[in-house]
Amino acid sequence: MLTRSLLGVGITLICVAIAGRRFNWLARLLRSGKPTERRWQGVRRTAQVEATEVLGQRRLLRWTVPGLAHFFTMWGFTVLLTTIVEAYGALFSRNFHIPLIGQSNWLAFVEDFFATAVLVSLVVFAAIRVRQAPRRKDRASRFYGSHLGAAWVALGMISLVIVTLLLYRGAQINTGHFPFAHASGGANVSANEGAASPWAFASLVVAHWLAPLGLGVNSVLEAVFVIANVAVIAAFMVFLAYSKHLHIFLAPINIAFARRPRALGALATTPDMDMEKVTEDTVFGVGHLSDFTWKQMLDFSTCTECGRCQSVCPAWNTGKPLSPKLLIMGLRDTMFASADQLLRGEPGELATLVPTTIDPDVLWSCTTCGACVEQCPVDIEHVDTIVDMRRYEVLMESRFPTEAGLMLRNLENQGDPWGMGASKRLEWTKELEFEVPVFDDTIPEDVEYLYWIGCAGALDERARTQVVSTARVLHRAGISFGILGPRESCTGDPARRLGNEYLFQELAKNVITTLNEARARTVITSCAHCFNTMKNEYPALGGHFDVAHHSEVLQHLVATGRVQLGASGDVVTYHDPCYLGRHNRVFDEPRDALAASGATMVEMDRSRETSFCCGAGGARMWMEENTGSRINMNRVAEALDTGANVIAAACPFCIIMLDDGVKATGRGDDVAVMDIAQVIERSWQ
Ligand code: SF4
Ligand code: SF4
Repeated sequence: MLTRSLLGVGITLICVAIAGRRFNWLARLLRSGKPTERRWQGVRRTAQVEATEVLGQRRLLRWTVPGLAHFFTMWGFTVLLTTIVEAYGALFSRNFHIPLIGQSNWLAFVEDFFATAVLVSLVVFAAIRVRQAPRRKDRASRFYGSHLGAAWVALGMISLVIVTLLLYRGAQINTGHFPFAHASGGANVSANEGAASPWAFASLVVAHWLAPLGLGVNSVLEAVFVIANVAVIAAFMVFLAYSKHLHIFLAPINIAFARRPRALGALATTPDMDMEKVTEDTVFGVGHLSDFTWKQMLDFSTCTECGRCQSVCPAWNTGKPLSPKLLIMGLRDTMFASADQLLRGEPGELATLVPTTIDPDVLWSCTTCGACVEQCPVDIEHVDTIVDMRRYEVLMESRFPTEAGLMLRNLENQGDPWGMGASKRLEWTKELEFEVPVFDDTIPEDVEYLYWIGCAGALDERARTQVVSTARVLHRAGISFGILGPRESCTGDPARRLGNEYLFQELAKNVITTLNEARARTVITSCAHCFNTMKNEYPALGGHFDVAHHSEVLQHLVATGRVQLGASGDVVTYHDPCYLGRHNRVFDEPRDALAASGATMVEMDRSRETSFCCGAGGARMWMEENTGSRINMNRVAEALDTGANVIAAACPFCIIMLDDGVKATGRGDDVAVMDIAQVIERSWQ
């Protein structure tokens, strides 16, 4: 007994010391990060989030098979903590059981159930990994680029924990030292087996296999496997501390401090981003590891390398070099490799992240669609990190794609990305059969809405069809609205997503001043990007407006009978714009409005939260797409596969990209790309 105790405790102490050293190192490393905005949501909110995301595994369960396997493994880890207590107790006393609950039939069942469930889950994980085993250069696998060796070691170690557990429990049954016995055992194996709780079904099976070995051998096996179980658990703790499986400890912390409700919508900013407090020493964005906040460093350390983000990324899926998983892994590996400099507080020794760790093509491939953030089961905030690095490139180094430079100059000089100027902003109204009030002063009290047209709606020929139809529907429904015409300018979205925070704030403040001067109350906008910026980003700059997307207004008009729709013979598939759907959760309103038009609705596989980007976000609209295939063509192929004759969207950027895509396929004559307002206008009898 003494040898057993000494061995078990000795191994454990050594492993705790090794793992503890690593955790201490990691805590110091994270503390070296910059401060972030307030992240703590309070006990109640945090408890809710932990209950749904960690205990409920909400996001993991979106993928049923791996989700269930992870669910049972995670809960197995939690529930089987009681078996760790029992194993350590058995090092000191062969008759140990947890006081009060230690001999209950229900605990015997729960422990055996989860031990079995974990084993089955491990088989599922192994099968998934074998099936998706990435061959060299096989980008389709979500595990491409992940550390596969470590994953197999983890599966092997967890299997060993369960196998040694069942073996020592089986031997315990045969020697009469099983904690869950409903009667006293005897001096022979079969009497002991009969005395064990029948609820310990898995342990009984193992006991049955071991029984022919006799009492003496079972006594030895009991001692050997208790020590083995304790040793494997202790070694696993060390392995966790040094591998990607660190997420077992870090995920609940990262989730507790994630942006809520999600890191979408508004971009995160740091105090350095306040342009009114800029000094000579201000560093905009992130150029070196030492510029990251502690939360970003925690993000990198928490990545499980599951590849869910990679599998949904439009850039990765169309052959671009950007994978959100590889980006996060690259930053983590560089951070760990540079830990000494960070801990010594010597950032001067660190290389700039672009191009040393992050290739410029990786950085500029992102459309900021948010699909990665939506999928990540541990709440990593990829978009904020990507834009932070863009900010440094643009504002500190003046490095960005040449075409984007033209767009920025146009924004600075003309207030729109195409450089067409304010005088062109009223041209679309010539297509209307009625006069739209143009407010060059304060909006009159009796006018309900300000219709914010946006640069694309006013200046791009295809996007104009969207605002023309919206204006017609609003007018016919008797809604009082007007526009600002030449007083409009870009809301700043493309400048901000490109990383030019300075220009964004200039543009945003201009728009906020204009809206305040006009005393705008409720603003309707058809552009998902204007909608997101005004609704989510202007409040931080003092702009507080009631902003509605035109899909919400149209749905309301249809639902209240102010728009009477007939039966349309169209088959419509709806493309969720990223900045309306994923970033702002407006999923149902456009669908409801379209369905009311009498059209037959067909959904694409990737819809709502999992919608696939059109390729225009993140200022990509104004950049060349020279690598891989085109994102809009990928989306159009999916839309055409539904058999729809109308591809509907609710954002001018999407309309332009999808329209380009449909025409490039040669289907422009039989498939129309339309805004939801156009579909409604067409079906209004
Ligand atoms: S935001 Fe979209 S494009 Fe950018 S990394 Fe994430 S999934 Fe890829
Ligand atoms: S960033 Fe999130 S989704 Fe992507 S691999 Fe890491 S844990 Fe998985």
